[in-house]
Amino acid sequence: MHVQQQISLKSYNTFGIDMPAAYFTEVTKPEDIEALATLQQPVHVLGGGSNILLSAPVHGTVVRNCLKGIAKTAENDTHIWLQVSAGEVWHELVMYVVANGWGGVENLALIPGTVGAAPIQNIGAYGVEVKDVLTEVSFYHLENKAFVTLPAEACRFGYRDSIFKNELRGKVFITAVTLMLTKKPVFNTSYGAIEQELQAMGVQELTVAAIAQAVMNIRSSKLPDPKVTGNAGSFFKNPTITTAQYEQLVTEHEGMPHFPAGEGMVKVPAAWLIEQCGWKGYRRGDAGVHNRQALVLVNYGGASGGEVWQLSGDIVASVQERFGITLEREVQVW
Ligand code: FAD
Ligand code: NAP
Repeated sequence: MHVQQQISLKSYNTFGIDMPAAYFTEVTKPEDIEALATLQQPVHVLGGGSNILLSAPVHGTVVRNCLKGIAKTAENDTHIWLQVSAGEVWHELVMYVVANGWGGVENLALIPGTVGAAPIQNIGAYGVEVKDVLTEVSFYHLENKAFVTLPAEACRFGYRDSIFKNELRGKVFITAVTLMLTKKPVFNTSYGAIEQELQAMGVQELTVAAIAQAVMNIRSSKLPDPKVTGNAGSFFKNPTITTAQYEQLVTEHEGMPHFPAGEGMVKVPAAWLIEQCGWKGYRRGDAGVHNRQALVLVNYGGASGGEVWQLSGDIVASVQERFGITLEREVQVW
């Protein structure tokens, strides 16, 4: 492994924050993995950098996961199992699966980042989460220096959450995930604007390819392209509150949207809360809130991680003051 010193991470994070790493290297082959223990610690594992905010210089070694490969590990009449290396690009995997006509990940098209990061926050969009198709996560435990394969049931997947964001946070180098895809897709088009978009596309016969294309069309029209405007997607999670709290709040805030979130709980779109507090389109220096999606914080070019962090803190405080709801950051702060 070739280790570099004092390199800028600007091109390695979709926020485009210019922050140095003391040491930087890439894992490109399985033989590199055990050498992770010999690197300057701590090790910070990096995928596509699309869910991180660099708030301070990174000490230790940033290790970019570049492991590649897709292998079919099992198949029966109805399903196919793929073991996918962590450094594969998530959207390219989705396109590969869709091209084969297999179902399960079409609603997750165009999510940036790598396959290895997908289980970290249990990526989700349009009513589907990676946990719905994931059967195993394989990783190298950085402290125990051991290779482990965890079945999905042990990954404690939740809404944008998993064991990897909690007990195993910072302790694992995910090497591969196994996905179970269906040969007889069950379509899920009821979420958001998918059906409307399929109609606009003139789709007569539903296919996984048509759904993936609809999702890609909607996402491209709503979300800022990180290549143009730095961002890390949704900065905050949608909060879940009790039905009783919602019923109280809606008397004061007419039209407050909500979705069922399990017994006695509802999910309130964070974007709506942020917009109500007047933040949509707000700009402070080069840090701002996107003008079409208030959940997305943006870097117009020269914002520092600290400025984005400060702005996010001000948003949390104003939503707390107005609604009594605490927003939680979805983005991983380094
Ligand atoms: P990184 O940002 O590189 O890393 C994220 C975290 O995972 C870090 O803590 C890192 O240490 C850890 N990590 C990464 N790879 C590994 C590994 N191999 N082993 C151990 N730890 C690892 N997310 C959604 O859920 N749904 C969406 O619809 C969605 N849309 C987005 C749209 C845009 C425009 C953007 C910019 C982001 C969006 N995201 C979305 C967030 C992001 O794409 C996902 O969280 C994605 O999984 C991050 O992948 P990454 O490889 O870039 O991870
Ligand atoms: P949208 O379709 O305009 O919906 C707004 C919000 O309402 C979303 O946050 C979504 O929650 C919720 N929602 C909509 N329909 C719902 C339903 N039928 N049942 C339950 N909840 C519903 O959202 P959007 O901003 O355009 O994003 C579309 C999808 O892509 C969403 O699933 C979103 O999570 C995902 N996305 C995620 C990121 C990220 O970085 N995490 C970035 C962009 C888009 P959920 O968010 O819980 O789905």
